[in-house]
Amino acid sequence: MMIKNVSIIGAGTMGNGIAHVFAQHHFNVTLVDIDGEQLQKGLSIISKNLDRQIAKALISQEQKTKILENIKTKTNLSDGVETAHLVVEAASENETLKLKIFQQLDAAAPQDCILASNTSSISITKLAAATQRPEQVIGMHFMNPVPVMQLVEIINGYATSSYVTGSIVELSKQIGKTPAIASDYPGFVANRILMPMINEAIYSLQEGVADVTSIDTIMKLGMGHPMGPLQLADFIGLDVCLSILQVLQKGFGSPKYAPCTLLANMVAAGQLGVKSGEGFYVYTPGSKDLVVSSKFRK
Ligand code: NAD
Repeated sequence: MMIKNVSIIGAGTMGNGIAHVFAQHHFNVTLVDIDGEQLQKGLSIISKNLDRQIAKALISQEQKTKILENIKTKTNLSDGVETAHLVVEAASENETLKLKIFQQLDAAAPQDCILASNTSSISITKLAAATQRPEQVIGMHFMNPVPVMQLVEIINGYATSSYVTGSIVELSKQIGKTPAIASDYPGFVANRILMPMINEAIYSLQEGVADVTSIDTIMKLGMGHPMGPLQLADFIGLDVCLSILQVLQKGFGSPKYAPCTLLANMVAAGQLGVKSGEGFYVYTPGSKDLVVSSKFRK
């Protein structure tokens, strides 16, 4: 089957980035969100990100117009997937919600449509089991920010057919990304390895092994990472890090993944990182300076 019509469920951080990339590669994109305001916000973020690409001479003004023309919006899920060859679900990370969405997608999308999820931590096999087409359900885990990051982690559920995996591998290449395949175990590969590193960085801070700046400098310059693990945790959202660690802890039944108390306390206190304005660092709109939170200054 030729994939040409792609519906994206959820127009948040990830959904608008995924829509942007597919539209840029000439797919007919339908962006679906229950919240009409989120759809408008998503479109304006795509437009701003396209302007950045124009400023870097990566695309022209005419291309921007065409890319935006490739995107339709819908607030009704069934209407939004009526003619889809592929659905990429990028709604909020909540298992009950996603199970319901997969049931709805199964009822509304054409029979041969592939149903993918961008979930960071929910079992693809479970989502597949909510449908009558588990062999056509797969994980397509994009990284944030989607237009910039190269990877698509592809996750095979228990029943995913090799034909579907092959189609999604090819499609990922077609949109300029590099696919890498993982099986459906908690955290897949990316978060199974990343989250324990972030947790360990927070343990090191909690135990006073080093301060925020030292931990991030050591990992950034010593390991060649583009940013330190504490800054990355702020960027991902400390609540998201906590919930993925809980999924790993529960899924593997091992204390190895137990979230650090400092992380749990920061989340309870509403210090969630960039999105709340403060985490390990303080984020002031318009400022690019990396200022350590007063909580962690001596
Ligand atoms: P977000 O909160 O920015 O956006 C979620 C959107 O889903 C919202 O606009 C919301 O209105 C919409 N939504 C909720 N219920 C819906 C429904 N029933 N139908 C249609 N839309 C609905 O979330 P996000 O950060 O974009 O994350 C989306 C998914 O991507 C999650 O599964 C998350 O785990 C995953 N993910 C996130 C990141 C990241 O860095 N943010 C990275 C990789 C994967």
